[in-house]
Amino acid sequence: MIRALCFLALFIAGSPPQDPGTADWVPVSATPADGELSIERTNGSPPLVIPRGEELSYLVEIDIFGKGVDVGTATFKSWVEGADAASVGHLEVAFKASAPTYTLDHQLHSQHPLSGDIKLQYSDTQRGSENRRREIRVERGEEGLTSAYRSDGHCKGCEDKAHFRKRVLRKPKHCKGCDGGEHRVWREFRERTVPEDTLDFLSSIYLIRSQIRCELERIATPVLEKDKLWDLSLVRGEAKVIEVPKGKYACRKIIIDAKKPASESHEGEFSGLFGMEGSMNFWVHESTGVMVQIVGKLPFGLRVKIRLKEAKGAPEGLITKKG
Ligand SMILES: [Zn+2]
Ligand SMILES: [Zn+2]
Repeated sequence: MIRALCFLALFIAGSPPQDPGTADWVPVSATPADGELSIERTNGSPPLVIPRGEELSYLVEIDIFGKGVDVGTATFKSWVEGADAASVGHLEVAFKASAPTYTLDHQLHSQHPLSGDIKLQYSDTQRGSENRRREIRVERGEEGLTSAYRSDGHCKGCEDKAHFRKRVLRKPKHCKGCDGGEHRVWREFRERTVPEDTLDFLSSIYLIRSQIRCELERIATPVLEKDKLWDLSLVRGEAKVIEVPKGKYACRKIIIDAKKPASESHEGEFSGLFGMEGSMNFWVHESTGVMVQIVGKLPFGLRVKIRLKEAKGAPEGLITKKG
C-alpha cells in the first residue's frame, strides 16, 4: 500500500492542483440522523453509530515538496442490511488510484451484526497491480471474545496446474512468486482472546460521531490490527474552519493515538488507515462529526491528506448552501 501511494504520487506529481470548492459554510445545530443503527458498547461508552445510506467521497493527496499531489479517491459508505434484531451494520471504504503502470483498488469492509455471537467481521482486500486479502472475525465464546485472523500469501507449491509456469523445453514448474491474485491462498487462522468492544480501525473512526454528539473530550477503544491489539484513544482538540473541495466547514480536531497495551509484546508502530503511522489528525464537522479532512504521516516522512469532495445521505447539518 505504501509502495503504491509513493509510486502514484511520483507518477502524478506535476499535474495541476484540484480546484477548491467555493461553497460557504452555514452554521447549523446538531440534528440526530434518522434510523441509524446503534451498536451498544460496555462500561458506559457511547454506542457505535452506523448511518443508513451514507456515501462520502474524498480526494487523497500526498505532499511532495510542499505541493499536494492528487493520488486517488477514497469513498466511505455505510448502510444497514436486514431489520430489527437481524440488522447488520456495514462500514466500507474503497481507495482507488491509477497511474500508467500501477492500479490500486483497496477495500476495507466491517460488518456489525446487532445480535448473535459474531460481533465483528472485517475484510481488507487489495486488488490491482498487487493483490492481498486479510480477514478478522470477532466472536463471543464461553470465556469472552475471541478474534480469528487470517491473511493470504503466494502458494508455496501444490498440484494445481493453473499455478504452474510453462518453461522452454522443460517440464512446467510451480510459480515461485508473483503479484497475481489467482496464485494466492489463505493461510491458517490465528486466534486470540480480545477485550470487550474490540473494533477494527475503520469502525473506530465512526465512534467520533458519538464522541461529538456526547461532547466527550476523550473516547477510547481496543483496536485490532491483524491479530495485534492496540489501545486507541480519540481526543478532542482545537476548533478551526477547514476548507476542502466540498466547501468550508467549522471543524474540530480529533487526535487519534494508538498505544501498545501492557499485555502485548508486538513491535513496531500502529498502522492506521492506508498505512498511516503514529498519530493521525482527523478534522471532523463540529456538529455532525462527519470527517472533513484527515492528515497523516506515511513511512519515509510523506504526509497524506484526505479531503471531503462529495457527501450523499450525510447528516442534515453538513449540507452547505451549494449542497
Ligand atoms: Zn499452488
Ligand atoms: Zn504466482
